[in-house]
Amino acid sequence: MTFITRFAPSPTGQLHLGHAFSALLAFDMAQAAKGRFLLRIEDTDKTRCTDAFEAQIYADLAWLGLTWETPILRQSDNTTAYESALVHLGDMGLLYPCSCTRGDIRRAASAPQEGAPMHGPDGLVYPGTCRHRPWKDRTETDAVRLNMARAVDSLEILPQYPETGVHPALRLTRAHLTDGVGDIVLARRDTKTAAYHLSVVVDDAAQDITHVIRGQDLVTATPIHVLLQALLGYPTPTYHHHRLIRDSDGKRLAKRDDARAIALFRQEGATPLDIRSMVDLPTS
Ligand code: GLU
Repeated sequence: MTFITRFAPSPTGQLHLGHAFSALLAFDMAQAAKGRFLLRIEDTDKTRCTDAFEAQIYADLAWLGLTWETPILRQSDNTTAYESALVHLGDMGLLYPCSCTRGDIRRAASAPQEGAPMHGPDGLVYPGTCRHRPWKDRTETDAVRLNMARAVDSLEILPQYPETGVHPALRLTRAHLTDGVGDIVLARRDTKTAAYHLSVVVDDAAQDITHVIRGQDLVTATPIHVLLQALLGYPTPTYHHHRLIRDSDGKRLAKRDDARAIALFRQEGATPLDIRSMVDLPTS
């Protein structure tokens, strides 16, 4: 089986050293396996993505010495595929429309009878206010949520996945998925587009990705992706969650830390090999 991996940035800011590490590592692993390396632009959130950031991604990655196959998949061009997956899950009876705002969720989750509010990978675990609503009543202004308990119970066995670096507590169990993750959003009300969890799973399957190489920051998303793959009948790739690049205070780099932007290192005269050695990757 050919090794196929991808780097999937969202053009919501400048690429920093952490992105360079992730992209170079995936590229190196694909080269070592004589496999394929794809670039995917995760731009469903049009309120935060810009063409300028997308152009900068191509420029920075090319400068780093990466090459990728074309045409590139841009998620904003692929919305019909996400909607079909959504309708499929809806027809299975696993989805419901939700009109709650963040404020509604905060208030409902902190009601005295709820106990201490639980935080999951996407923030507060949804308290279930709209769970009674039928899927067919979805309107333009609704988000769409997965009924997690139903989703888990619709599977004969909970899938597991080949991975490296995952804490045992993050393996798929009914309790973790229903209580620790909850009814996640699969289509957003603000952008009216597929949420990250759905688009990433649809695209990894459509692009025959065999190895997902991404940071430890996404480790809590992986059980959700593996569950969605099982529900949609997709294969599960091998996951490799790599170390995160931190600043001198030990803080994970974020897109707002422009001081670490690859573009800035370039302007200051750094070479691609300098970047490799800054993130402790082999330089030869
Ligand atoms: N688009 C995501 C990000 O920029 C990465 C998605 C993934 O690797 O699964 O954080």
